[in-house]
Amino acid sequence: MHRPGTCTLVGAGPGDPELLTVKAVRAIAQATVLMVDDLVSDDIVALAPASARVVHVGKRGGCQSTPQAFIEKLMIQAVANGERVVRLKGGDPFVFGRGGEEVEHLQAAGVAVTVVNGITAGLAAVTSLGVPLTHREHAHGVVFVTGHAKPGSTGPDWAALAHTCQQARLTLVIYMGVSGAAHIQAQLLTGLPACTPVAIVQHASLPQQRHAVCELQHLHATLKAEQLGSPSVIVVGDVMQGLLAVAQGDQAVLQRTG
Ligand code: SAH
Repeated sequence: MHRPGTCTLVGAGPGDPELLTVKAVRAIAQATVLMVDDLVSDDIVALAPASARVVHVGKRGGCQSTPQAFIEKLMIQAVANGERVVRLKGGDPFVFGRGGEEVEHLQAAGVAVTVVNGITAGLAAVTSLGVPLTHREHAHGVVFVTGHAKPGSTGPDWAALAHTCQQARLTLVIYMGVSGAAHIQAQLLTGLPACTPVAIVQHASLPQQRHAVCELQHLHATLKAEQLGSPSVIVVGDVMQGLLAVAQGDQAVLQRTG
């Protein structure tokens, strides 16, 4: 009898394989086919059995990202062929990265999908700096927001977010914000003080992780000066105050001794 295949959408976390969930490791170890996004590190793909077929569907697989519809078609075919398909997505599958759309399309094609959480980049980025996302003294909550809108849509209302974060004392965690940083900075400054602390963390949890801390008014300039590019998370809010004070102290010392 033909055994039906399975389809599991797995969060690969921010990059460090040790941040995978036990469920994720198990699903990867049992996969016969892996469809892998760009932000998934090679060390994680290496946890798959040697016999598993690995398909890179991000920009690494070709000169452009593989179209979403094609990825979904491949997955549907593989499941119909009885394969155990694991779709590996960076961070958490349901935090940006279009995991929701993928599940909708697969379900519409009659494929049941299991989703396994991953540690989202925003959480890992802040924790890697030793800073809590919420703190009774500094932040009552967190907003995860994308800096990259769907083509044709306007994207987040940064001015409204700035006012809300200021009034409700929320930490703002911005994904995909590097290329739009100048615009985001200008808009956020309409509702947040110029001296609001900001951290930028690139390649969170990986050996090549780098970060910078600055005031909101210097966000764009700092990104340029430190040459911080994608993938980075930008964290805005008073929880970064301690790190900013240390960074500014270092600057002052540098200026005195320089
Ligand atoms: N589903 C993913 C997010 C996908 S959107 C998650 O939950 O993390 C891609 C964006 O995530 C990147 O542009 C960047 O803003 C962020 N990102 C992903 N991995 C990252 C990492 N290791 N360090 C910093 N930012 C990262």
